[in-house]
Amino acid sequence: MKALLLAPLLIALPVTVGAQAPKLQVEPSQPAPGALVRLTLTIDSVADSVASVRGTMAGEPLHFVAAGRGVWRALGAVPVDGEDSLWARVVIRRASGALEATRTALALEALPAPSVTTSPRLAVPERFTRPLDAATQARIARENARARAVGSRAHESPPRWTSAFQKPRTSRVTSQFGTGRAFNGAVASRHLGVDFAGAVGAPIKAANRGVVALVDTFFLAGRVVYIDHGGGLVTGYFHMSEPLVSKGDTVSRGQTIGRVGATGRVTGPHLHWTARYGTLTVDPLDLVALDPDWYRKSDGISSPAMGPPLRGSK
Ligand SMILES: [Zn+2]
Repeated sequence: MKALLLAPLLIALPVTVGAQAPKLQVEPSQPAPGALVRLTLTIDSVADSVASVRGTMAGEPLHFVAAGRGVWRALGAVPVDGEDSLWARVVIRRASGALEATRTALALEALPAPSVTTSPRLAVPERFTRPLDAATQARIARENARARAVGSRAHESPPRWTSAFQKPRTSRVTSQFGTGRAFNGAVASRHLGVDFAGAVGAPIKAANRGVVALVDTFFLAGRVVYIDHGGGLVTGYFHMSEPLVSKGDTVSRGQTIGRVGATGRVTGPHLHWTARYGTLTVDPLDLVALDPDWYRKSDGISSPAMGPPLRGSK
């Protein structure tokens, strides 16, 4: 009698286990433009273990780490400029060679349109609103391309950090990420960084461990330092009076890397702090909010090497 009752269960079990599809979840569920998001992939790896996980979102590769049995995690970025929908896509290769694909759509929170009435009205000298000449525009484009290239290269090394990101200054934040900017009553741009107060000469600290990827003088950003933190993450520090590091230096979290200044296209001394995931600009305070334990490879679980990125989808 007992054997007869158990029989259907024994037949049903392998079917149920085998049918468990991988699940991809994103937090926050409705991210703002420029948000750093956390992706969690849950895979049934009992029957056929996972050899590699590759993913892409908004044209950037995702770097999954094995965070626990059957749980893989990655960071991703939401572009700043107006995508209606965004997909995260993942391809899982099993030890048997079998491939599985899964994807999830992100519901995006719209940024309010910058309006002159809600934007900080900055009365600035006329030189800030005058159209730039062709040579200057070409210079800005070249400098932007170099900053983007630093972001792309950050995908080539695994994370160089193990502690939480910290703010580069403890001073007051004078302008948040994403706010509309009005110059002399006209909306000019969105603010794609976080500004910290500081007098000329005040110290600027590295947000986390990394390798100095770029030190130069840019037209808009002035004297600038970019740090490659690996895993696709980069932070940039603008308008310095004096950088205190050189390209190729490994810097520790909290190390003084330069001094506040007013170089570049600014009206006064401050630190403009920026961050990227690959080529995409993200809110640097999302990095500070990230729990490093969330994105950490679990001991005893092998994580696949960072493979070539999946290309071709947005
Ligand atoms: Zn700024």
